[in-house]
Amino acid sequence: MPIIENLLINILFVLIPILFFQIFYINIDSKYKDIILAIVFSTSIVICMNFPITNFEGHLFDLRFIPFVLGALYGGKKVALFLYLVILAYRFYLGGVGVYIAFFDSTLLLIILLFLLIPKYQTYSLKTKIIGTMALLALIATISLIACHTMFGFILHAPSVLLSSFVVAQALTMGLSVYFLEYLITIDTMKKQLYHNEKLKSLSEMAASISHEVRNPLTVTRGFIQLLKEPIIDEEKKNTYINLSLQELDRAESIITDYLTFAKPHENIELESLNVTDEVNYVANVMQPYALMHKASITKEFLINESYILGNKKQLQQCLINLSKNAIEAMKNGGKLVFKVYKEDKKVIIKLSDTGIGMTSDQISRLGVPFFTNKENGTGLGTMVAFSIVKAMKGEIKVNSKINEGTTFTILIPESGE
Ligand code: ADP
Ligand code: MG
Repeated sequence: MPIIENLLINILFVLIPILFFQIFYINIDSKYKDIILAIVFSTSIVICMNFPITNFEGHLFDLRFIPFVLGALYGGKKVALFLYLVILAYRFYLGGVGVYIAFFDSTLLLIILLFLLIPKYQTYSLKTKIIGTMALLALIATISLIACHTMFGFILHAPSVLLSSFVVAQALTMGLSVYFLEYLITIDTMKKQLYHNEKLKSLSEMAASISHEVRNPLTVTRGFIQLLKEPIIDEEKKNTYINLSLQELDRAESIITDYLTFAKPHENIELESLNVTDEVNYVANVMQPYALMHKASITKEFLINESYILGNKKQLQQCLINLSKNAIEAMKNGGKLVFKVYKEDKKVIIKLSDTGIGMTSDQISRLGVPFFTNKENGTGLGTMVAFSIVKAMKGEIKVNSKINEGTTFTILIPESGE
């Protein structure tokens, strides 16, 4: 009798559905989950019954109850009922006197599952789940052996070692399967938690960047107000300062709005045709007070007057402000910041060169990484935001820097029609 072979086949076909379980049940968020589970576990049941470990005069001994219990506990009552019907149908098809016992113990098992185990199973600890299912299968196997004996009497002719090892094999395979399944579910839960943490992380990064981005316009406005404090100031200048301050305050407001809609990143961002020289001009003016505070000067070199790109006005300004702010901050003892705009190969190029402290190649490679900062009060978000804005405009940024000589940021953005 190929007992061992068939036992191994049974165990194999009990374990295979567990792999399917991992692929379909855990990974795929499908409404057909139950159907898939029902099909996979009933296939396993049919195969187990096809290769019974032993066959005593029409009584089949196999591991069919393990996929039955697994399917019921992890798939729910509907799957349980379906698997029960599959077992009965296939058992009646195979025939033999054993059908009565099969009917009896399958029904007993179904009742225990439906009314005792399924409702509370998910609340049990791993240990209880394993011991509980092992005990259940050992119990059912023993009951069906006793039933065989009392109804037909001939089961005693089989060696008792064989009969008890059948009970033990059922229980062990059951415990192993539950352990395996629970292990896969734990891994999956951990994966989901990790993903969730990642989300939380970017949320907090966002919060940090809001305060960072709002600080820019506030600093600029502060500079203008300081300039307005001067005792003698002509009316025209005063108006310009006030207007620029108001614009900056509006910017602060819209930044907050922008970042709050960050949850839907690609919506609400309007692309428009922008004249690059206008925007660079605007930013160069806006940064004037901040440069003054740092004893730095700003120069503009526009080789073209009109050059259009597709982008978002506020974002482009934000990007240029972030980069020029860094440039000015890099010039602690004064220096020169040059904005240059020109065209090359259908690309509009904006160059920001400063005569500041410069960066090492290691620092350059870490630019754009969130929270990379060398400043006491830095957030390390400015360049990250600038980089992502340029990327959204399908452009690129190149950085050249020499320690103690200065840094040049070159932004290349594809030119668009007007
Ligand atoms: P933060 O300005 O808050 O430090 P950023 O992302 O704007 O954050 O910049 C990150 C770091 O990159 C800065 O701390 C600075 O060390 C370096 N850096 C950026 N731009 C320049 C520049 N033009 N010259 C020298 N160092 C710079
Ligand atoms: Mg910065």
